[in-house]
Amino acid sequence: MFQLSYDNANNVLLTRVSGVFREEDIVLADKQLARFVARYGPAPVLMDFCGVKRVDAPLEAVVRRAHAPSILRGETCIFIVSAEPAYSLSRVFAAHQYFKHKIEPLLVESPREACSALGSTNLKFELVQEDGVMLRERTMLGVLTEIDKRGLKIFNRVRSDLRRRAMSTLDRHAPRQSRQAAIALSDLLNVGLKTMQVTDVDLAIRCPGCGRETRLAQCAITAARRTSYSCRTCATSLVELAPVADPASAETTGYSVGGFEVQTSADIKCHGVILPKSG
Ligand SMILES: [Zn+2]
Repeated sequence: MFQLSYDNANNVLLTRVSGVFREEDIVLADKQLARFVARYGPAPVLMDFCGVKRVDAPLEAVVRRAHAPSILRGETCIFIVSAEPAYSLSRVFAAHQYFKHKIEPLLVESPREACSALGSTNLKFELVQEDGVMLRERTMLGVLTEIDKRGLKIFNRVRSDLRRRAMSTLDRHAPRQSRQAAIALSDLLNVGLKTMQVTDVDLAIRCPGCGRETRLAQCAITAARRTSYSCRTCATSLVELAPVADPASAETTGYSVGGFEVQTSADIKCHGVILPKSG
């Protein structure tokens, strides 16, 4: 669980991860820090890992993050880690970041030490309220994790059989050509999925216009600068995908996944996991 707080008077950010530290926390922390810095400018960051009870993020993800460019624009970064399991992980991160970028976070053991490292004694942090975009990022990451979990339990032969049948239905209805050229919602979900891959056959939506449930693979699709799925029965627009011009933009009203903005007019189901309606 990741949270972002800010001390406005001293211009210091605080990220806190507690409970289980997952790969999603790395992604969320990155996105939220990047948005904050884009809006309000750079600030030193304290990263508090004292509340981490268990690490569920693969080591490769931590190493990958250490090698990626820093989003703090040279500002001080201090890790507060008092014990395992976060301690070893922080050391590995610091070593890799130094190896790659010749910078590394300062590792301290308590919030007090962190404050004195910043030359300040009375830091007062307030939780940065999550706006709609942040909440949707969090929801989307949760949905992808859930699909991944269930994916492991799905019997692959049954899945591919279902898929073959659905695809042959599709072949009679729509020319494959245009569909293949378009970015599909499943393509975007696959960017975030780790243990399995989905296709539009796996995604079901109930049309708010006529009430019929349909697979996204059976929808009419148009692709120009954006991909639009619409109901084959009543032509209601069901899903729209468009590239996000500025990933840090606060103007988005749908989900953002794989650099695309996703707008849906109803819940989408994927193997029993619900991707809620956007907006
Ligand atoms: Zn319809």
